[in-house]
Amino acid sequence: MALWQLAKEGVDAIGVEQFGVGHDRGGAGGESRIFRLAYKEGPEYVPLLLRSRELWLELNSLSPIPIFHPCGALTIGRPEHSDLSQVFNSIEQFGLDHRVLSISEMAGIYPQHRLHEGEVGIFDPAGGLLIPQQAIEAAVGAAKNHGAIVLEQTEVLEIDANSTGVAIATTNGTIRAKRAVVAAGVWSKKLLPGRSGRFEILRSVLHWFGTKDPALFMPDRFPVGIRRSGPDSNFSFFPTLDGSEIKCNLHIDKTAVADPDAFDGTISEEYSEFVKDQITGLVQGLDPGRIRAKGYLDGYSADNHPFFGDVPGHDNLTVLSGFSGHGFKIAPAIGEAVAEHVRFQRTTIDMSHMAFNRQMDDKKDLLERNSE
Ligand SMILES: Cc1cc2nc3c(=O)[nH]c(=O)nc-3n(C[C@H](O)[C@H](O)[C@H](O)COP(=O)(O)OP(=O)(O)OC[C@H]3O[C@@H](n4cnc5c(N)ncnc54)[C@H](O)[C@@H]3O)c2cc1C
Repeated sequence: MALWQLAKEGVDAIGVEQFGVGHDRGGAGGESRIFRLAYKEGPEYVPLLLRSRELWLELNSLSPIPIFHPCGALTIGRPEHSDLSQVFNSIEQFGLDHRVLSISEMAGIYPQHRLHEGEVGIFDPAGGLLIPQQAIEAAVGAAKNHGAIVLEQTEVLEIDANSTGVAIATTNGTIRAKRAVVAAGVWSKKLLPGRSGRFEILRSVLHWFGTKDPALFMPDRFPVGIRRSGPDSNFSFFPTLDGSEIKCNLHIDKTAVADPDAFDGTISEEYSEFVKDQITGLVQGLDPGRIRAKGYLDGYSADNHPFFGDVPGHDNLTVLSGFSGHGFKIAPAIGEAVAEHVRFQRTTIDMSHMAFNRQMDDKKDLLERNSE
């Protein structure tokens, strides 16, 4: 997304990817992503989300296949839950369009969800489903159309930034440039040890389920969403586009991973049985005989906010990292902010909550660091 925005602004830019563009091994793997405007992570994200939505629609128009399905997003839970409070705060501060649904209204419109007493639904009509791998391909394609060069299957081995510029050693030779932007996901720890922002690499596990009546789980009937219903009942849900499977992410299993290169996303049958029991208690109409699972990684900071900015002492080396399980939806506006930062050393949207040197509470419980 940064490459797209830089190239669009006429910057001579080279993108370097260690695998193929649109691969499944990074933070964007796993076939689908949620877009929400009414944001449980805090109202400070709403300007980034509003701008991202415009850019998602622009990218959609450039893509041969739809990458943003504007089906709306649901948040389900007790109104007093802190995440729902933040959703309401976002709605109030920015006057966002929304609908609060009582338990009986929810049962009528979304009978797929087995609700608990006291729960409400908040429908965010600007939400939707993103198709990440194709979205990345579309953004890289747009960047190339604006003149960017893209090197695939090329690993960056080392970046040497000094007052005369940056030397980027890769498996295909050295690139010399005025500056570098490092958006290397969980690999940024390895690439820039001690200089990539303070985050942990954690595994999230995605499960896909067959359904008994696929029509009930298409985006118009079963929008994307997040549910906060108790310790083993917090999860996110994603509709099916082709009638085959829905996806759920139970927000409990965040195992720390030391080396992303040695990571194997295989999930044990025992764990999948546990997830199946939890999810079938919360969603009805699933075909529990058809299930598959895979683990994916992202970098999580202690306060769940990403890092955006120059490595201290190097104003020609910008790092974007620690997107804490919720970075995909804001990626286009982050990319635009990178282009502004690189050209003018400022951003239109306030990014201070992502500052490198902010204070963080390192003792925060890992399990509180939910993704989607
Ligand atoms: C299971 C799961 C579910 C999620 N769900 C959502 C959701 O619903 N909505 C949402 O908004 N967010 C979601 N997220 C978060 C979001 O997908 C991530 O925060 C985001 O994709 C991270 O982007 P990134 O650019 O930092 O990393 P990545 O997407 O991993 O990109 C980094 C890229 O850099 C490349 N690279 C790394 N090192 C090198 C090197 N040395 N040389 C060359 N190339 C290199 C990698 O191969 C990779 O392609 C989820 C994350 C996970 C794991």
